[in-house]
Amino acid sequence: MWPKCDEVLMRSSWILTILILIGLVLGTIVGQLLYDQEYSLTQPESQHAHATALAVFTFLGNTVFMGLLKMLIIPLVATSVVVGVTSVGDFRKLGRIGGWTLFYYIATMLIAVTIGLVLVTTFQPGAKIDEQRRAEAEASYAQDSDKVVALEAKQAEGLMGAVRGLVSQIIPLNVVAAAAKGQPLPIIFFSIFFGVVVTMIGPRNRIIIDFFGAVFEVLMKMVHAVIWLAPVGVFALLAWTVARIGLTVFASAISTYMFVVLLGLAIHGLVVLPLILKLFARPGPDGSNSPYRFMHQMRQAIMTAIGTDSSSATLPVTMECATELNGVSKQSAGFVLPLGSTINMDGTALYESVAVVFLAQAYGMELGLATLVLIAITATLAAVGAAGIPSAGLVTMVIVLDAVNSNVIANDPAVSPIPVAAIGLIIGVDRILDMFRTAANVWGDAVGAKIMDRFCD
Ligand code: ASP
Repeated sequence: MWPKCDEVLMRSSWILTILILIGLVLGTIVGQLLYDQEYSLTQPESQHAHATALAVFTFLGNTVFMGLLKMLIIPLVATSVVVGVTSVGDFRKLGRIGGWTLFYYIATMLIAVTIGLVLVTTFQPGAKIDEQRRAEAEASYAQDSDKVVALEAKQAEGLMGAVRGLVSQIIPLNVVAAAAKGQPLPIIFFSIFFGVVVTMIGPRNRIIIDFFGAVFEVLMKMVHAVIWLAPVGVFALLAWTVARIGLTVFASAISTYMFVVLLGLAIHGLVVLPLILKLFARPGPDGSNSPYRFMHQMRQAIMTAIGTDSSSATLPVTMECATELNGVSKQSAGFVLPLGSTINMDGTALYESVAVVFLAQAYGMELGLATLVLIAITATLAAVGAAGIPSAGLVTMVIVLDAVNSNVIANDPAVSPIPVAAIGLIIGVDRILDMFRTAANVWGDAVGAKIMDRFCD
């Protein structure tokens, strides 16, 4: 019965895509209607109905859809990495794939940051921000207590603290505790180590390889099922987000800043990554080497990223699209995608560099070439340190902001630093930009898996 059911699901892939698209569009419309209504509701019953609608959307989107995806992440990461590593088999080959993968991650993040820096210095979106707008933003920042706590904690940690935190997370003291906390990085490390040793114990390893292969297959079937909730999930998540922010932000004082981030993401995602794919990936099973065809095959993952704002929650769908629809090998997908969803963040790196330069422009701070280079490096590291969850990029951005302040003040002590409260200028639109930078992050991971496939034979 299952194989037949599976076939039906595969054939219906295009129906699912259309349904997800409808979910995205309808969610935006319903969210905007709710946003428009919010300030005109005077009756307590209608205010209650409005609040109930938002609560239902949070339940459907966050609790049910994101919950089901998150439930699958840790088992999927553990099994896919073990399956990937054991099927590569050869230790030296694995080292080569690992080395090229890390090179790909860093190189594409640096390219993304460079695009962001060129655009933000060309368009100068911060030049339009006046004194009054800055004061309002700083006041609104103080009211967002959750973000203030997260940002201040990250600021206290500093750049070295964040890097140290990341490195110390890699080797888990207790692998079960790390899994229970939902931390993918220690699980990836443990699974790589475990997989390598499995390949060394001789024929007795058959039972382990078969076991992990079978569990992986079962998990992918669970993903097939959960993915059918994506239309409702992205509808609810989009409606909830737009109802709180409203599309009018696209016409606000910071619309040029939003435009610069979105243009940068579009150039990186639609021109640069496809070019890299064309140059370095080998043709798919159908003989096609078209990057846009590959993008089309990854469409459900890209749309899920837009809906969930989370590369980690999207990972099961990314895996499904890459292996099932495009035929990327389990070796490559099993290794590159889980690692990529936590450390490869092209969209976040681009966003962080644009945001920091925007704030510097808004506060009248001049940035020389050396400071821009510093931003490129720290934004890349901060993006590596950001988890694949909503708003992680906004929080780690404070690291870049601090590095810029220290650098500029070291050269000229008379300059006033950009206050952390300046982030109030961009906090309100963060969720909207998060959708698109997460889509770029997921697309970057998929391109990486497709390219690394060539080393896996
Ligand atoms: N939400 C992003 C992701 O999950 C991270 C970020 O906030 O930039 O990929």
